[in-house]
Amino acid sequence: MNYQSTRNKSISVSSAEAIKTGLSAEGGLFVPESFPSVSLDDIESLAQKSYGERAYFVLSKFLTDFTDEELWQCINGAYTKEKFGTNAIAPIYKLNSSAYFLELWHGPTCAFKDMALQILPHFLTVSMKKTNEDKEIVILVATSGDTGKAALEGFKDVAGTRIIVFYPDNGVSEIQKLQMVTQEGDNVSVAAVKGNFDDAQNGVKKIFTDEAYKSLLARNKFKLSSANSINWGRLVPQIVYYFSAYADLVKNGEIAVGDTINVVVPTGNFGNILASYYAKKMGLPIAKFICASNENNVLTDFIKTGVYDKNREFHTTISPSMDILISSNLERFLFDLTGGNDNIVSEWMAALSSEGKYTVSDEVKEKLQSMFWGGCSDDAETMAAIKKCAEEYDYVIDTHTAVAKSVYDKYVAETGDTTKTVIASTASPFKFNQSVLIALGDHSAVVGKNEFELLDELAKRSGMDVPKSLGELKNKQKIFNLVCSKDEMQNIVSDFLMIE
Ligand SMILES: *Cc1c(COP(=O)(O)O)cnc(C)c1O
Repeated sequence: MNYQSTRNKSISVSSAEAIKTGLSAEGGLFVPESFPSVSLDDIESLAQKSYGERAYFVLSKFLTDFTDEELWQCINGAYTKEKFGTNAIAPIYKLNSSAYFLELWHGPTCAFKDMALQILPHFLTVSMKKTNEDKEIVILVATSGDTGKAALEGFKDVAGTRIIVFYPDNGVSEIQKLQMVTQEGDNVSVAAVKGNFDDAQNGVKKIFTDEAYKSLLARNKFKLSSANSINWGRLVPQIVYYFSAYADLVKNGEIAVGDTINVVVPTGNFGNILASYYAKKMGLPIAKFICASNENNVLTDFIKTGVYDKNREFHTTISPSMDILISSNLERFLFDLTGGNDNIVSEWMAALSSEGKYTVSDEVKEKLQSMFWGGCSDDAETMAAIKKCAEEYDYVIDTHTAVAKSVYDKYVAETGDTTKTVIASTASPFKFNQSVLIALGDHSAVVGKNEFELLDELAKRSGMDVPKSLGELKNKQKIFNLVCSKDEMQNIVSDFLMIE
């Protein structure tokens, strides 16, 4: 199977090439030329399989240029009990007779980004070999918090790669920051950017599209790639866990094969929810996609009106990984909804970058609304959702997952839809311990406490264990203290690579 660009359909590259490059040269995103379809029998057989086998089932249909041996090497290098603490890798938690949390945060950094970023470096190593790449790959990452650490953990000490992570100096949690500035590994660098996530992301995009700079890098035997959720190698492993969740519901007798389910996804860059949509395109019976946003509710408005308008105030919220005004992966979805119209997608993306706004056709809007329901939750509602979930079910969720739960409750109240629903649970509550503790009603339990006392407090309050990787941060040395402006990001890259 080959991959085309959302802005130029005549481009056709192998998956190894798509994964190695990240972004197409003219700025478009790589998408599969067609979608493999799976039968209900296939889906039924997944119920008895391990997570690794489920991953093989999905990945082998897309990465057709990888040999079986290469695929298994990637899968076995990523999804292990040692790294995820559970053989299930992405277990389902039954909340009640209609709602299930899909726990995507059992990986090394306690957030769902691990699901993709543990396997991406393996994909990349294989892809480099397959395409006879002689240059060293330089991964540039702009992060709103979770991606950065997950990418650093995934890439650290992977031969033939370097990684530089930029995070907004105001807009990540204290724990997220600690996780990044204490990162070990010989091939890693971390810098804070003055500004918000979009500033960091735009800075990275600017480096990616600077031809003169890229030739300078090439002369020094470096090649840029991206670990952001625009890379196909990030997206494809996310399709797996929707199949896995469905297979677990079948296995546990919660649904029969062929029954439709809904999914709720706390959304930022639109990668996770797009993966669920791709699963449906392959034949997974999903009825509704409920797209949950925080106060940065560009997508809620887009789904309601067909107008994408990022010209609005940026809010720093208690769910920082969703504080995003430009949802990059939406471009792939638009390409699909327009039946692969690269011209119109290019036009909309040009309008987005010049005016911050575009309007889709009525036909596209209707298609969108027939499948998607958009809702948002402000910080107060999100806090209330954490409290309610703990009180009703004795189950503590993080702030991002709580946005999803809050929007799901609104959806059910508005529609009365009782279809069984999988809610993507995207981070461990320990990662956002302060907000979670306050939400649980323990404001006094927070005052004057440092991050590590907060972890212990939350363990006491929730009955859960402090994740090992977070507890260990206490004894780690801070290694990085770089701070730069948006315009200095290129210098940071040059300094790290020691080029003039
Ligand atoms: C990245 C992230 C999200 C948003 O996912 P997208 O794929 O960017 O839509 C939600 N929750 C958490 C905890 C995240 O880290």
